[in-house]
Amino acid sequence: MVTTAIDVLAADPEVADAIRNEEQRQRFGIELIASENFVSAAVLRAVGSVLTNKYAEGYPGRRYYGGCEYVDVAENLAIDRAKQLFGAEHINVQPHSGANANLAAYLALIDPGDKILGLSLAEGGHLTHGLAVNFSGRLFEAHFYGVDQETGLIDYDVVLQRAKEVQPRAIIAGASAYSRALDYERFREITDEVGAYLFADIAHPAGLIATGLIPTSIPYAHVTTTTTHKTLRGPRGGMIMTSEEFAKPIDKTIFPGIQGGPLMHVIAGKAVAFGEALRPDYRAYTKQVIENAGAMSDTFVERGMKVISGGTDTHLLLLDVDTLGLSGKQAEKALDKVGITVNKNTIPGDPRPPTQASGIRIGSPAVTTRGFGVDESRWVANLIVDILQQPEDERVLARAHEEVLSVSGRFPLPGLPSV
Ligand SMILES: *Cc1c(COP(=O)(O)O)cnc(C)c1O
Repeated sequence: MVTTAIDVLAADPEVADAIRNEEQRQRFGIELIASENFVSAAVLRAVGSVLTNKYAEGYPGRRYYGGCEYVDVAENLAIDRAKQLFGAEHINVQPHSGANANLAAYLALIDPGDKILGLSLAEGGHLTHGLAVNFSGRLFEAHFYGVDQETGLIDYDVVLQRAKEVQPRAIIAGASAYSRALDYERFREITDEVGAYLFADIAHPAGLIATGLIPTSIPYAHVTTTTTHKTLRGPRGGMIMTSEEFAKPIDKTIFPGIQGGPLMHVIAGKAVAFGEALRPDYRAYTKQVIENAGAMSDTFVERGMKVISGGTDTHLLLLDVDTLGLSGKQAEKALDKVGITVNKNTIPGDPRPPTQASGIRIGSPAVTTRGFGVDESRWVANLIVDILQQPEDERVLARAHEEVLSVSGRFPLPGLPSV
């Protein structure tokens, strides 16, 4: 019998079972979804604390409820630590999610009906950057730039050309499936040239930016938004960073604009995670994240596979699986059978619809947290190619599943008692 942190839920066996099963899935699988990570025991503890009971509408020292003296401490710690990590003048740690952070950034600086220009979803962007069915596409007139079909890279001359054609009020620099560092300085030159605001959405690479391993958006963007749960390795949530100039409109747009009471337990978790990210071992972690993604990418290329843009500067890569005659959906399913979790993803110029896609997105943050180094990264990349070359061969799948179980058993999940 495995003891888990969830035994306290014995009174509700149905929910306890769901949590226990998810715990086992995480423990015995290889998590390669680029937007996921494993938080520390300390972050889990903060998020599962009595701070969830507290209403604290407003901001530290200016609340609409009594009894906020201790949650104020937690929120101020989160803000101060985030400032140390990113060097921004003003930070709001209350957004419930990355999507909320983006909604607030838009509503604070531009008006419904205005034009926005973002990276198209099909070529690496995010749904909050103008997708028709998202609030961003419903509230604003959304226009898009893409990546170069040959190189898979953003061509900044093309972005400038699009900006001149569209004359947007804001350009969004950010992506969910782009493996290269962004040139925010160049983006700012472009926005200055057309008189637009620059919104940087660093939801994915935030942790790598915090430790200075890839260039930061902070000096260039009018507003920078992020999630806190991807490479930054905190609890699920969002954050907005800006100069003093936009502090008031941002704060007012989060509360009372789009949110009510902040999630104080999550904000305490953010404070804990930011404290962890300020330590030298987190910098070593982010360095390893990039090395591991690079090792996976190199292995794929050595095995004759096509990696979009030829490699990665970050924590993720996009693998073309059409070269093996597979859709991304089929690849995702075959890998899922052996306990390797990835997501299907469109590739530049994808002939398949997004529900099928021709690629998969692979990220190193979660496995690196578990302790993977370059050897394990090369091992899993080789295993992925073995599986995708023979996705119907039950013997290949059975052997791969055994390897996954044996390797995952050697790398404990943080935050949980070991088996
Ligand atoms: C993940 C992501 C978001 C949204 O984060 P949620 O917390 O899921 O709302 C926003 N922008 C980008 C670029 C992302 O990758």
